[in-house]
Order: sequence, then C-alpha cells, then structure tokens
Amino acid sequence: MTTNGEATGQRMYRLIRKLYPICRSITGNGFRKSLRILQDRLELTMQEVPSGTKVFDWTVPKEWNIRDAYVQNARGERIIDFQRSNLHVVSYSIPIKRKIPLRELKEHLHTLPEHPDWIPYRTSYYTEDWGFCLPHRQFLDLDEGEYEVSIDASLEDGHLTYGEYYLPGESPHEVLISCHSCHPSLCNDNLSAMSAAVELAEYLSQSPRRFSYRFLFIPGTIGSITWLALNEATVPNIKHGLLLSCLGDAGSSTYKLSRRGDALIDRAAKNVLEHAGESFTILEFVPYGYDERQFCSPGFDLPLGCLMRTPNGKYPEYHSSADDLDLVQPDALADSFEKCVRIINVLEQDGYFINLNPKCEPQLGKRGIYRGLRGQGDLPNRELALLWVLNLSDGKHTLLDIAERAHMAFDTIHDAAQTLTKHDLLRRADQVEHG
Ligand code: ZN
Repeated sequence: MTTNGEATGQRMYRLIRKLYPICRSITGNGFRKSLRILQDRLELTMQEVPSGTKVFDWTVPKEWNIRDAYVQNARGERIIDFQRSNLHVVSYSIPIKRKIPLRELKEHLHTLPEHPDWIPYRTSYYTEDWGFCLPHRQFLDLDEGEYEVSIDASLEDGHLTYGEYYLPGESPHEVLISCHSCHPSLCNDNLSAMSAAVELAEYLSQSPRRFSYRFLFIPGTIGSITWLALNEATVPNIKHGLLLSCLGDAGSSTYKLSRRGDALIDRAAKNVLEHAGESFTILEFVPYGYDERQFCSPGFDLPLGCLMRTPNGKYPEYHSSADDLDLVQPDALADSFEKCVRIINVLEQDGYFINLNPKCEPQLGKRGIYRGLRGQGDLPNRELALLWVLNLSDGKHTLLDIAERAHMAFDTIHDAAQTLTKHDLLRRADQVEHG
C-alpha cells in the first residue's frame, strides 16, 4: 500500500465540502455543476441523454431545475427558505406560486417526528407533485392563517446527465465502479462515494493496470438503467464491478454480495474485510438498495457488489439534514478508500502459479527466505504462506483460492508468491484472467 492515509482523507473531505452546497437531483444543472467540479480532477466525459428517450421499461424524465423556493407567513417572513437548505424543497417539485391556508399547506409538508430538529430529504421524481421539508419542531409551531408558497422551478424537456471516466488497461476486460451522484446536500449518501471514486480513479491512473476501469457518476436508478440501455454492447466486457456508497461515517465496513454471491469481487471483498483486523459485515444480495438492483437484474447479472460503511437506512441521519459535514470524517473516508484499493489489488494480482520444484519442498532455509525455528510450534504467517503457495501452486489454484484455504490475507499470499518467484521457485501459469 503506497497511499498516504491522512492526506487522502483530507483531500476526499475537501471535495465533499465543495460539492455539499450544490442542489443536485436526477437531472439538471446541479448535477452538471457537480460533474464539472469532478472534471478538475478527472478527464471525465459528460453524457447528455434527451428527455423522452426510451430506456428498457423506463423513459428518461423531464429535466428539473430550481432557482428559489420558500413558504412565507402572513407577516411576510420566509419561514421555509430554499436558500438556507436545498433539502427544504421536495426534489422534482413542480413550479407553484399560491396563497393557501395552513390546512392545505400541511398536506405538502414532510417532517421527521422522531428527530424534530432535522430536515428530511424527500423526492417526487415520477409523480408530479410539490412539497417542502422542515424540522418537526418548526412544523408544530406553525400558526393558523394563510401562507404564500413559491417554487421557482422548471420541469421541461431537457437531458439526463451522467459522468463517465474510462481508464484503459492491458486487457479490454473492465472493472466497473459506479456511484449515484444525484442527492443534494447529503454527505455520506452519497458525496462520500463520489469522492472515493475520484480518488480511486486518480490512483489507478497512476498505477499499472491489467484491467480497464470504467467509472460512472450517475443518477440513482434511472442513471444505471439509462447507461445499461445505451451501452449494452459494452456490458460483456465488464468482468467485475463495485458499487460505492455511504463510505464516510464512523461505522465499520459493509460489503453487499453480488446476485451471484460467489463472484471474484465478492471473494476479494470478503478476504480484504476478514483480514483488516476490524469488525465488518457481509450482507447477502437483496434486490433493493442502490443501482445493484439494475446491474444485477437477471438480464445482466453482473458480478457487482456494494461497498459501504453503515448501509443505507441503517443510520439515523440517513436521508436527513444530519447527513452533513460532521457525519463524514477524513479518517473513515481514507479507510474506505484503502479498502477499495485492496479489493482492486486482489483483482489485479490474482492468478494461477506453478511450483517449479514440486517434488518435495525446496530447501528455503539455504535461500535465506525461511527461518522456521525447529521445535517451535507455530510458524510465522509469512513463512507458512510460502509453504501454502508452494503446495497449492499446481496451476489449478489461484492465489485467492490459496488465501481462502490458508485463512490468510490475500496480501500475505501474494507477497509469498513474489518472494518465491524472485527465487525462481515459482512462475505465473499464464496471464489468463478468471472470474
Ligand atoms: Zn439515498
């Protein structure tokens, strides 16, 4: 591992802070503005797909843009103001300017009674409606009387925008890294993953690569459906996939398995988390959550899992104004990034090897790579790893197979393979990818 954790975490946090104030949605100028900020770091292309485009069973929606919104009381005071927080307006609200009584206004207000100081995050993408979100405490204090509601927004034919960054490697076979990028001022869900993807793309652009990498910054659900519909010819190249989400909170790491459950990416992620020396959770696939719902739909069934810390819906601040710049922390971001790199290293470095001295063990001691104090019970892991690699490198077991069989970190097994290769005791069987 060559990354500098502290600097990485700070850089990731700075990007989140830059993106945080922007009002993003599944379409519109906030999404474009965010991608332009990412373009300062990556040469990502911005794709524009016209409203009305048929994408499988869905249709690219009209484009939504908002300039201002408020609720004003009879005294002319803006009691709910989009300028103070973009979460105050239900995303995709249709334009409106009317005076209405409190009774009618209340039908369009959303609160979180269990967290009375937080503003909820609500959307109405596929039903034309309008609404405001506010702290429950404020809701309880609303006086009877008339209110002016104003949403200066447009919902018109336009485009769905997404960002794509392709990094070619030795092989045309691809690793897909995807994150939804459509939430407004929410940090963990999902600015944390956007910043992790940028960091990862930069890191990989400076590393030798066996695989090619494709990064997608897309609006949730409709973005992955649109991308899959327009890029079906590319899909067979995708051999591994990792969806990133909620990577900055203080919780421990979670990996949600792909629909297949035993794909190489699943095994790689499991090995990394099992040997990170911290608590972690492996979740079974369920057809709910983020864009894995589309990438792992039966017609594609991509080997794509989801790396998170605390999963969506499982932390109280989820989809509220409390998912803010305090909820995400540089050290958690750096730790998540490090895990992404380790998982990708497994994909990059795994392979079949051949023991060049298969008849009995080679004498490692005389080569200076094995101390094996006689009579002492347990061998150090590093030396046991040498024995495992020699024993199972018959061209039928990959390094990850060996790591799993030996209950060791992939890194330890890979290091052993490198040492043995250096001493002409091992060679790579081929460069054929598997998985
Ligand atoms: Zn969300």
